[in-house]
Amino acid sequence: MGKHCFCLDRDKGFMICCDLCKRWFHGECVQITLKKAKMVDHWNCIWCSQSKQAEESLIEKFTRDMERFKSQVKAEMLLELQVMKDQILTDKTSEQQQISELEKLKKENDLIQLNLTHLQELVALKEVMISDLQREKEESQIVIAGLKTELENLKKENKQVALKQTMIDNLQREREKAQVEIEKLLRENTMKLVLKEQTKNKKTCLAKKSRLSLSSSQPTIKRYIDDDSD
Ligand SMILES: [Zn+2]
Ligand SMILES: [Zn+2]
Repeated sequence: MGKHCFCLDRDKGFMICCDLCKRWFHGECVQITLKKAKMVDHWNCIWCSQSKQAEESLIEKFTRDMERFKSQVKAEMLLELQVMKDQILTDKTSEQQQISELEKLKKENDLIQLNLTHLQELVALKEVMISDLQREKEESQIVIAGLKTELENLKKENKQVALKQTMIDNLQREREKAQVEIEKLLRENTMKLVLKEQTKNKKTCLAKKSRLSLSSSQPTIKRYIDDDSD
């Protein structure tokens, strides 16, 4: 048996037990008859009823507060989530921008690398060309030196030729003079010969004349005249 009724009297008559506090109460004290009690399954004393009500109202209040709090928290969390989502989106966008900038830089770098390689090839080619030109220059200098020597030789030869030409000219002049002399002498000689011939002819004629004059004088005279006209 639990605690007894609040009247602290002894057990008597119809008594009823509270479902919650398990206390026993006199039916008279809590104003309930046996007939009434048989109609209900559960019964609570006035204190338990009050505390139960209070508890229920407290639970209700707590539930309401909880609901309000939950919805408030939910709203705050949703807001925070939205902010986080926006931040993540912004971060993602900036990350993508950084990636695209990096890719752009990489492409530029590749281009620069390519240009550099090209320039290095050009420099190597130029160096080869310069060494070729150097060699050609050296060869040309050798050729020029040879040509200079040849020129010197030609100049010497030219001088000798000029000297020879002068000699030839002198000889030519002397020859012409000699020719003139020879012609003069020839003319003189011819004249002498003619004179000699004439003299000889005269002598012959005279001889003939003297011989012919013995046989016939007429034709001999004529012949003499013919010979003289020659
Ligand atoms: Zn009582
Ligand atoms: Zn009770």
